[in-house]
Amino acid sequence: MRLRYKMMAALLATGLGSVALVGGVAYVSVNYKVDSLRRQQAAEHFHTYMTAYLAEYGDWQSAIATESFDRFVRRQEGERQSGAELPSEMLERMPPRLNNQARNAPPREGVYVPRQGGGPPPDPTLPAARRSSGTPPPDGGFPPADYRDAPPDPTLPAVRHRARTPDMEADRPPPPRREGPPPFRFILTDAGYRVLLGGGQFRYGEALPENLRASARAIVVKNQTVAYMSSEGTLAATPQEQKYLAALYNSLLWGIAAAAGLATLLGVLLSRGLSRSLSGLTGAVKRMQQGELRQEVAVQGRDEVAALATAFNAMSAQLAQSHEELNTSHATILEQAEQLRELSIRDALTQLYNRRHFDEQANSLFNQAVRHKRPLALVICDIDHFKKINDTYSHATGDTVLRHVGSILRKHMRLSDLVARYGGEEFVMAFPETAGPQAVALCDKLRTLIESFPWHEVHPGLKVTMSMGVYADIAAGSAETMLRKADALLYRAKESGRNRVCFLPSTEV
Ligand code: GH3
Ligand code: MG
Ligand code: MG
Repeated sequence: MRLRYKMMAALLATGLGSVALVGGVAYVSVNYKVDSLRRQQAAEHFHTYMTAYLAEYGDWQSAIATESFDRFVRRQEGERQSGAELPSEMLERMPPRLNNQARNAPPREGVYVPRQGGGPPPDPTLPAARRSSGTPPPDGGFPPADYRDAPPDPTLPAVRHRARTPDMEADRPPPPRREGPPPFRFILTDAGYRVLLGGGQFRYGEALPENLRASARAIVVKNQTVAYMSSEGTLAATPQEQKYLAALYNSLLWGIAAAAGLATLLGVLLSRGLSRSLSGLTGAVKRMQQGELRQEVAVQGRDEVAALATAFNAMSAQLAQSHEELNTSHATILEQAEQLRELSIRDALTQLYNRRHFDEQANSLFNQAVRHKRPLALVICDIDHFKKINDTYSHATGDTVLRHVGSILRKHMRLSDLVARYGGEEFVMAFPETAGPQAVALCDKLRTLIESFPWHEVHPGLKVTMSMGVYADIAAGSAETMLRKADALLYRAKESGRNRVCFLPSTEV
């Protein structure tokens, strides 16, 4: 997988994950907060009205016998709207009015429908009829279901309170079960924790379990606790809240979509920049591999890729410089090696080749001549009475003579010919592709040139001549033998008066 696609996938996953996490947490916490606030409101509302209810009628029995709590609340609400003053203590504790929609919602037995926040839709699994009073409430409000748990009041007409025998209580079916979380209900007990309103869970007169007593809230009238209330169950969201939560959910979806789009865009932009920088670097590395060591890539920004590019440029420059230095050094070494080689094959005084090199080359020329059946002539020369020159004109003059003789020989050689100082005042020459008579002619020319050189300019009275022995038969078998025969001819030249070239057919040498 290419780097840019990996990066895009990572950004996408990070973006979506972050939005889903933050949005999910926000959604759940808002849900919880809304539920908690509504519980508080409902509890405050119930507490306020129940306090007023009990304060007005003294105790629960008297109150329920005179006016149902639900009707009491509606009456108080009506008075509030018509401007009638509620007790100051009650006014202070009244929750803020949110809307009046819930007022017109149908009643739900045993379920608290908040008046301020709008109520949940009626729950069809719960019985709708009021059984104790026989009179359904005209609107939503506090549940009448628990009134059925109240004992009949003999002082009231039978039409409003029908007596319930213990048998009837026993026959009464258990509260209906419903799916999902239990509905939100209030439980009211007297000061001794005996249930007055069971919230569909407890029967009238039943003792409130110990675990619920701790969270029960006291209802105090004239500094005396007359009852306890507690709530339980889940408060269903109102349509308004459902709309709000749906909007939140939609926002969350849009957030996820926006995050995905943004992450993709960022991934494309970032990965394009990164991949451009990296491809520049890889291209430069490839060019280096092909020998172009001095590379310079563009450095953009101050991130790690820029640091890499800077380091790469520095490394490339250093490498190129080292390579140039190495090349220079290599060339110097080659030059010095060539100089050394030249020194090793040259004679220092005359700058002609030395004897060792001549022997090597003469062997090579001899082999070629034999292989190709071509002529080859070898010559040995010796300056006449050189000892006398040294003795007469000084050793330095003798050296000068040697240099001039070497120069004359080298100047008049063909490029293919070979000349060397063989030792002392002796010189050797090899003439490839040259038969005996041509070699003799060439040697005689050289001898004349040496003899006619203006030696008096070197030293007044100085005269220099040279004797030569020429041998030109490769049948001798080796260059060494040919040279030995040439040396014999040189001896003959010396014997026969010097300053001459001696050549004889091979059989006579
Ligand atoms: P011939 O005609 O028979 O060859 O007589 P010659 O004197 O040339 O021969 P000989 O071999 O007796 O003398 C050679 C002399 O060359 C002896 C030596 O001192 C001298 N010599 C050898 N090498 C050098 C050198 O490099 N420089 C100088 N100045 N003299 C040298
Ligand atoms: Mg000699
Ligand atoms: Mg000599």
